[in-house]
Amino acid sequence: MFAKELIPSDTASLQATKISAFVTQTGGGTSHAALIARAKGIPYVASVDMEIIKNAKGKCVIVDGLTGDIIVNPSNLTLEKYERLRTRLTQQYQQLENDRHLCAETLDGYPLSLYANVNTASDIDSVHHHGAQGIGLFRSEFLFMQDPTLFFDEERQYLIYHQMLKRAKGLPLTFRVLDLGGDKCFDIFEEMAKEPNPVLGCRGIRFLLRRTDVFKTQLRAILRAGHGYALRILFPLISDIHEFHEVKRIIKEAKEELKARHISYHEQPLLGCMLEVPSAVLIADTLAQESDFLALGTNDLIQYTLGIDRSNPGMSDFYYPTHPGVIRMIKMTILEAKRFQKPVTICGEIASNPLFTPLLIGLGVQNFSCAPRFIPIIKRTVRRLSLLDCCDIAEHILTLRTSAEIASYLAERLHGSAGQTTFKCDFEEV
Ligand code: PEP
Ligand code: MG
Repeated sequence: MFAKELIPSDTASLQATKISAFVTQTGGGTSHAALIARAKGIPYVASVDMEIIKNAKGKCVIVDGLTGDIIVNPSNLTLEKYERLRTRLTQQYQQLENDRHLCAETLDGYPLSLYANVNTASDIDSVHHHGAQGIGLFRSEFLFMQDPTLFFDEERQYLIYHQMLKRAKGLPLTFRVLDLGGDKCFDIFEEMAKEPNPVLGCRGIRFLLRRTDVFKTQLRAILRAGHGYALRILFPLISDIHEFHEVKRIIKEAKEELKARHISYHEQPLLGCMLEVPSAVLIADTLAQESDFLALGTNDLIQYTLGIDRSNPGMSDFYYPTHPGVIRMIKMTILEAKRFQKPVTICGEIASNPLFTPLLIGLGVQNFSCAPRFIPIIKRTVRRLSLLDCCDIAEHILTLRTSAEIASYLAERLHGSAGQTTFKCDFEEV
């Protein structure tokens, strides 16, 4: 599919079996549209000059999501090369899947938990298939992209959430409440219409605290669905403890409303804050004290720490997941959460990238959450590492001063260099 731009609802509604690739003129690598395409295994190449490929219509086109190459009218030789590559990647992936029954533990027996990020109700089935230990992040807003009337329909939301909990078959399911705004704007809400800068505007919890009607409808549906299940609710883009106090007050009201209607609901769900802006990390101690669990949303944490729009392909050169500042923030969050004995899950895209696995383990991360199809590769990576090596790697990285040095050190450790303990990861899609 060729398009000027992809919005998250486009990728959310399409199936990998029907769409072989996306090629767009705009759109960043960690935009929501891109990460959904990635979760579904659909190659996606952005920042393409449509003028150059305007004659591609009706022709055979190869889209190489690994290199970003687009080949129009490939020769037979090129076609065969890509057929071989596709067969090899499929075989490698199948081998990884054979390990799904093994536990995620390092060579020296340090156990980790691997959870799944899901974006649709039907993704829950792949959670079981890929051997995840639960759902660390359900991005609930994607449900509403096909049908915005659902925002105001508690009954239908309740039925969907209840179905999901049933399909999770006892695995923990973390409902992230609506994270609207930014690149997920809805025309029906005037709060997010014509914002001068949507990413810094009425997004995540800010929107929900302004539209308590929408927020409470979702909360009531979740609380009802969660009755009798282990219920976890996560709140996006918290930047001040006051917002979390407001969240708790609104939950109390939602419960009272259900009680008045004589409807049963979950009395004591676990409540978590997403740390996605630097201010949240700087008050991680307070947030840890007042929540049941924390989630580090590094996609946004990188965006807001570096001040770089994650959806802008023109700026993607400046989007540094290995920035020393970001790594220090992860470390700080883990230390504060440990101090108050609260679990932290890392659920940004770096959790699905084996390059980061040893660093994250060395920093003390114990819970990873990523798209289900990346769980096998992360499990394989974990099983080839030792905690001791991971701590060494993290310690060394904390002495490095640039994103580039850190990135090349991680790559060196992943792919190997003379005289160093390395770990091998034999899946090419890294
Ligand atoms: C994140 O920001 O890292 C995250 C997991 O949330 P999302 O990608 O949906 O913004
Ligand atoms: Mg986020």
